[in-house]
Amino acid sequence: MKGYYQEDPWSIVEEGFDPVMQEASESIFSLGNGRMGQRANFEERYTGETLQGTYLAGVYYPDKTRVGWWKNGYPEYFAKVLNAPNWIGIDIEINGEQLDLNRIKPAAFRRELNMRHGFLERSFEIYIGEGKLEVSSRRFLSMKRDEIGAIRYAIRSVDFGGEVVLTPYIDGSVVNRDSNYDEKFWEMESSKAVAGSGYLMACTRKTGFVSCMTMGYTLELNGEPVVVNPEVVQMEDYVSNRVKLDLGRGEEVVIYKYVAVLTSMNHQPEKMISNGIKILAGAMETGFDRLFEEHASAWDENWAHSDIIIGGDTAAQQGIRFNIFQLNQTYTGRDERLNIGPKGFTGEKYGGSTYWDTEAYMIPFYLSSASEEVARNLLVYRYKQLGKAIENAEKLGFSHGAALYPMVTMNGEECHNEWEITFEEIHRNGAIAFAIYNYTRYTGNREYLEQQGLEVLIAISRFWRQRINWSGEKGKYVLLGVTGPNEYENNVNNNWYTNKMAAWTMSYTMESLDHLEKSDPGAFKKLMKKTGFDPAEESPAWRDIIKRLHFPYEEDQRVFLQQDGFMDKEQRMAADLDPEERPINQHWSWDRILRSCFIKQADVLQGIFVFEDEYDLETIERNFDFYEPRTVHESSLSPCVHSILAARLGKSEKAYEMYLRTSRLDLDDYNHEVDEGLHITSMGGTWMSVIYGFGGMMMKEGILSFEPHLPANWESLSFKILFRGRILKIHINSDRVTIDNEKGDRVELFLAGSRVKIERSGSVIANL
Ligand code: BGC
Repeated sequence: MKGYYQEDPWSIVEEGFDPVMQEASESIFSLGNGRMGQRANFEERYTGETLQGTYLAGVYYPDKTRVGWWKNGYPEYFAKVLNAPNWIGIDIEINGEQLDLNRIKPAAFRRELNMRHGFLERSFEIYIGEGKLEVSSRRFLSMKRDEIGAIRYAIRSVDFGGEVVLTPYIDGSVVNRDSNYDEKFWEMESSKAVAGSGYLMACTRKTGFVSCMTMGYTLELNGEPVVVNPEVVQMEDYVSNRVKLDLGRGEEVVIYKYVAVLTSMNHQPEKMISNGIKILAGAMETGFDRLFEEHASAWDENWAHSDIIIGGDTAAQQGIRFNIFQLNQTYTGRDERLNIGPKGFTGEKYGGSTYWDTEAYMIPFYLSSASEEVARNLLVYRYKQLGKAIENAEKLGFSHGAALYPMVTMNGEECHNEWEITFEEIHRNGAIAFAIYNYTRYTGNREYLEQQGLEVLIAISRFWRQRINWSGEKGKYVLLGVTGPNEYENNVNNNWYTNKMAAWTMSYTMESLDHLEKSDPGAFKKLMKKTGFDPAEESPAWRDIIKRLHFPYEEDQRVFLQQDGFMDKEQRMAADLDPEERPINQHWSWDRILRSCFIKQADVLQGIFVFEDEYDLETIERNFDFYEPRTVHESSLSPCVHSILAARLGKSEKAYEMYLRTSRLDLDDYNHEVDEGLHITSMGGTWMSVIYGFGGMMMKEGILSFEPHLPANWESLSFKILFRGRILKIHINSDRVTIDNEKGDRVELFLAGSRVKIERSGSVIANL
């Protein structure tokens, strides 16, 4: 579908309506504000293929687990992202005929996602009989008032005369496409409709989340407010007002629909109706235009520090803005109970909300483009779930405060139920530990580490210790039966990446404990008491593992080996695969995939990316040249890491190819599945591929370092970085880089290899 959406630096534009593309476009044009989100479904009825999707942050359903053969330790349920009551609906009848673009072919159809100001706009023309009408709509989910959504829907008659009926409604009879037993997830609690407004309150089965949606609307005829006596419809799961009007030639009717969307995450159920009415009334009093201005200025603020400007390449520019836009509308960091699901608010698939994706791919973006609390809240989220992670490990037979964080979770409990992932893809624990370090080294603020993070680190280190065993045969410690990031290998021994993560966590935990003992003995003592940590027993055991853990290595080619026995496989290159057989996960049996050498996503290279400062360029290159050709990039998390390493190695073309693949993954639908929703977590990876890859940013010796490598076709790259209270503006072109210290104290950093200081409000320039 490459080329289906028009290239534009600030918008995604679809010209002409193609019903085959409807579900893909519903994903692409999704809206969200961190508290709620929705697919770009039409307001008016649509009987063609569509995935209706309205999602509420933190609200989920524990869908009963479905597996072929039950294994002890499997979770009882899989938390499903819930399709919630539909509040955008406005049915339209024109002279008795339902407006349905599946039946009435529109002319001049245009849909636009305006990323600068976060709204969705649509316009089209239709003929009813001989009469022509123009329809347009604009909708946004307020970034300022995150419980408010607003729609302006206009019908203008060009040369039509007749009756128009507008029916704004809220509909609770929604289902999930992704559901294990076709269960109904919502129970209706109460509903009420009166002239001008209505509400629908519903409660999720089992989890008992309550949502209350309250709608109100106003009408304008030819620019003047009108009040029309509606027919009021109130059913158990549906409320509406049917408004009839006569529309003459050249006349225009506009309906403004406002909805307050409340959930029991933030309101007591018994107050939700009155709170909803109040919040709605506030929004209606403000009115559509001013609500929109507020919302747009919140987006201006967002872009002021998170925008990336690419000169000379509109496709790349649109790609990166699309990714940043989606990241900002998925997670705002205001609520530490929330996290970022792989599909955000754009689809149902994957369920749950939290994967290792958050720590490995998302935190870097929020660290550099939002205030410190945003990334910190993501860490606090895991801290609050530590108790559950310890319980989770206990279920699998671990003890003494060892924690295994879930592969997929909503509330700290494991949701994933494939043994090779649930029990074996344990490297996720490492990503959680590393994120604590990453946050601490970037912000220079040890408070989280010392007050909360160390408890998490101790528990994870304890897990590694118990999961690792001594091999008499090897005379080394080993880590058996794991799945690394490359999920096309299961139950392998000594996955290099996982072993690296395990040893690193234990070492960082001890280093941080030593630091705390010296800097704040009182806090150290308290921590010892709280965790029962025994330095005399635990530290030497960890030290011994760090010293004698086995790391597979291939002597001939001098590369870190993905796992024991990897070289026994037939060594083939991805380029030699028959294109008809790709993606292999859709064409090959699982058995064949497991026996092949093909790699789903960065694995050894993931480790090299994470611990880059430990390796020289030759080592990185040797490993890159060995692994990348064997990689099929069938996870959306793969191209970004390869793009970053390729940029570092000066492999410009590869870096650029991988960049387009990550940044335009959804816009060009590389994985043929955008209809199911967007790949939100890989979007954090896209950001890294620009800033870490082409911008060449990294932490070196405790300070920031920039070593840019622009793709040949880019004229320039500019972005801002928030760093320890400063705003640094980086501008790169083909032969020089300029850094302005826009706000904050003097800063020291490495620029193109030299250590430089930039005074407050000062700049520094280096030639490339
Ligand atoms: C990847 C995992 C990832 C998950 C959710 C899978 O395809 O292999 O690494 O956590 O998707 O994004």
